[in-house]
Amino acid sequence: MEFSLIARHFTRATPGAVLGVGDDCALLAPTPGMQLAVSTDMLLEGRHFSPQDGPAGIGHKALAVNLSDLAAMGATPRWATLAIALPAEDDAWLRAFSRGFFRIAEQHGIELVGGDTTRGPLTLAVTVVGEVPPGLALRRDGAQPGDDVWVSGVLGSAALALAYRQGRVSMDPLDAARVLPALYLPTPRVALGIALRGVASAAIDISDGLLADLGHILERSGVGATLEFGALPTLPAVQQYLHEDVTREAVLAGGDDYELCFTAPAARRDAVLAAAQQTGVAVTRIGTIGAEASLTVRDADGQPLHLGKTGYDHFAA
Ligand code: ADP
Ligand code: MG
Repeated sequence: MEFSLIARHFTRATPGAVLGVGDDCALLAPTPGMQLAVSTDMLLEGRHFSPQDGPAGIGHKALAVNLSDLAAMGATPRWATLAIALPAEDDAWLRAFSRGFFRIAEQHGIELVGGDTTRGPLTLAVTVVGEVPPGLALRRDGAQPGDDVWVSGVLGSAALALAYRQGRVSMDPLDAARVLPALYLPTPRVALGIALRGVASAAIDISDGLLADLGHILERSGVGATLEFGALPTLPAVQQYLHEDVTREAVLAGGDDYELCFTAPAARRDAVLAAAQQTGVAVTRIGTIGAEASLTVRDADGQPLHLGKTGYDHFAA
């Protein structure tokens, strides 16, 4: 595509790179002694965002979901590349998209150092590069029996917002207005992930739903877990809908929340709470890791919930 388009919309100063946009490759000098954490996520129209979504929100989300992977690794964001396929050269769309992209990039110290631009059905692929001290990355395979299971923020808002938008659930419009930002403007928990280095034993970001994503930790760690349904944090606006199946499923198995689910030894509870306080993110203890490879959610009476189609199947498979 036209180089002036890239120059107009995707070229900013990159003082943290040896060479940014404009050559055949970017040149990056990692901080001596740090390991690089690298991740890529794609966003497709119709699957990860809807054609009606505003371009600034799409720009935000394209980077936010990638930052969430760095957060889940405890990595400090540094650089990104952006591959974008566009049906037409739409200057107004690109201006708003790049505004959304660069706003969250600046908030997290990310520099856009390269990419690719081509004509095609609207598709975005972002690669992020972060840094983490050797041995301190928050991996999925470190959970131990006896560890606590924690989540940041609240669960189910994004899935409930999507259900509302699709007309699958009726909500008071004021309550709906409180859940919708979770869908359009997810907040990656970057600072919390960094603060949990050396504290959490395992971590993942919740993109596919709590049970499915915790399931990945359990699988990789060779352990199981018991969760208390009543302990799962939700927005106050969501609580009155919790008796409905759609809501329970959103909380347990809804995707797109981009909160962190992590484990930590019970002896590190104070350190977890200090990390939460220092970063201004609420964290909630929702259960315990066990040696037996199963995932159970108990209701208020201590009875196991029937999980049905909640993402649990993936763990069992
Ligand atoms: P090449 O033919 O070498 O792939 P391009 O014309 O595709 O070069 O890209 C020119 C420069 O612009 C390269 O440095 C590339 O990394 C950068 N670039 C292209 N598209 C984007 C984009 N969407 N965001 C950021 N940088 C981009
Ligand atoms: Mg190219």
